[in-house]
Amino acid sequence: MPAYLKFIHSKIMIFFLRMFMLCLLLPGHADAKPNKKNQALAMGEQRQIMVAVDHVLDANKDFVKQHSKSYFLPFIKGQNPKATVLGCADSRVHTHAIDPHPDGDLFLVRNIGNQIGPVRGSIEYGVRHLHTPLLLILGHTMCGAVRAAMQDYSDMSPDIKTELDHLHVPWGDPDNAILVLDSVEHNINDQVTEASQLFADELNQRKLMIVGAVYDFRNDYHLGYGRLVIINVNGAKDTASIQKALGFSGKRPLKDVFTKK
Ligand SMILES: [Zn+2]
Repeated sequence: MPAYLKFIHSKIMIFFLRMFMLCLLLPGHADAKPNKKNQALAMGEQRQIMVAVDHVLDANKDFVKQHSKSYFLPFIKGQNPKATVLGCADSRVHTHAIDPHPDGDLFLVRNIGNQIGPVRGSIEYGVRHLHTPLLLILGHTMCGAVRAAMQDYSDMSPDIKTELDHLHVPWGDPDNAILVLDSVEHNINDQVTEASQLFADELNQRKLMIVGAVYDFRNDYHLGYGRLVIINVNGAKDTASIQKALGFSGKRPLKDVFTKK
């Protein structure tokens, strides 16, 4: 082969080799459809992020518009909450179910499965430093954390496993609403027991009441959708003791204290 043909041949080879390498580097080269699908998914995810960001920023804009300086003055001076609330982080459970204006009222601590273990310091701060007379342990129906703890969760990430390890609930079918409710109650009672040990002095001195309750957004108790069902007061679980403890002032009709039937 003449020298000039060898030169052209080598140039052509290099060109094709470059094109081949470039194709390998391009994402989704092997199949154009998944690439488009991935791009669409990525765009969808970006849109979802922006929707969430807009939701928060727009809500705050409205909040600032609707609240004048006078609304914030008490908060600037400090806080004097009525209750420490340990609730589940579940998005379906919010304070407006127990307090229409929770600002300044509730010292709120949340995690998956409303557990004292990972947040003992926060709970102690509410009870001992802010001196809230009520500690409310607020679980809820069909709690995802409780359902996870009812079965093998060894494939979860280490951090999630560590938190779920605080839940000691009976194992069972996590889709069985009756079993889940039983485990939800079991967990709340466990947390009340732990809190009672932690704040034994406050209980003995009658400075504190510890209430365990289920927020029932599914009407599993047949007492009304969204009902707060009291299942434990200072360790007492029977209806008579709960009603006696919560109706002690004589002002509250017993019909307004909802307990398990
Ligand atoms: Zn939950």
